Amino acid sequence: PNLINQIAAGEVIERPASVVKELLENSVDAGATRIEVSITGGGTEMIRISDNGCGMTADQLPLALASHATSKLPTDEALFHVRTLGFRGEALASIGSVSQLTIRSRTEGETAGNEIQVRGGVIDPPQPCGCPVGTVMEVRNLFFNTPVRHRFLKTAQTEKGHIVEAFTRIALANSQVHFVLNNNDKPLYDLPVTERWSDRIAAFFGGEIADSLIPINSDDSQIHVQGYVCDPSVSRGNSRMQYLFLNGRHIRDRSLQHALGEAYRGLLMVGRHPVSFLRMSMPPELIDVNVHPTKLEVRFTDGGRVYSRLLQTLRHHFLTTDM
Ligand code: ADP
Ligand code: MG
Repeated sequence: PNLINQIAAGEVIERPASVVKELLENSVDAGATRIEVSITGGGTEMIRISDNGCGMTADQLPLALASHATSKLPTDEALFHVRTLGFRGEALASIGSVSQLTIRSRTEGETAGNEIQVRGGVIDPPQPCGCPVGTVMEVRNLFFNTPVRHRFLKTAQTEKGHIVEAFTRIALANSQVHFVLNNNDKPLYDLPVTERWSDRIAAFFGGEIADSLIPINSDDSQIHVQGYVCDPSVSRGNSRMQYLFLNGRHIRDRSLQHALGEAYRGLLMVGRHPVSFLRMSMPPELIDVNVHPTKLEVRFTDGGRVYSRLLQTLRHHFLTTDM
């Protein structure tokens, strides 16, 4: 069974940043209002994520580590109405199969918590331990038992860069949560809860981007678009600064990037990409997120409608804003 989990891990866990992404999504799903990430060695030595979410009982801990065990899908029907970030029940089993994973967790009603350890897929029984309400996930020595994957890890600096990007996406998508990121015991980010999304964007990008945010807002009966586009003068040579979120999760979508380019047509020099931060929401029935295990890509049941909604919103905006 560990081999199967290792194979699944190959799909879901590419590098330390994939661990951070999966664990952060779990903490958000657990309803945490404060999440702290600490990494050493670019996450290859250690990744620790502490949250104040709902926690797990001693009975739930081994289940969380079993593959295809998810507490997030009560029925098959629910797969069509996915709202939480995780729903496959693969991440923890995968991470536990290729690392040394310790989970400490406590639910609200309990006076003490429980700890469980997995080492290369071998699970020890849970033991009582003292800990606050919530969950601490500690991942050490990622890929210690899969030498080929281990060899493909880049320098600590590069892996840290990928972690910062994963952290940024999730912290941007969830400004209702206080996020902290520490690198080698030094604080990198400390982002208190904020009502205004622009505060969170400014905390990451500051300066000229924060100064040139132009608010965007549009609603039709089902598709809502809200966020900011930036003045053409802060455009970039690639599309990395086009942050797009759909129902609370970061996505990349070629056709929506194309819509952005179209909206700026004539305002931007060739080869430049507008900077933008857009949150879209629509009923889950209009989306299929079940395309790839890392869930970065989505499929819309009516892609044309989403495309034109975004394009219309932006065009309308450029006509009414003096840039
Ligand atoms: P999924 O997120 O797809 O359900 P995971 O393997 O990521 O699968 O997690 C398995 C289960 O472990 C979750 O469904 C949830 O019940 C539990 N779990 C994981 N992380 C946390 C956490 N930080 N707090 C509370 N429960 C958690
Ligand atoms: Mg998950």
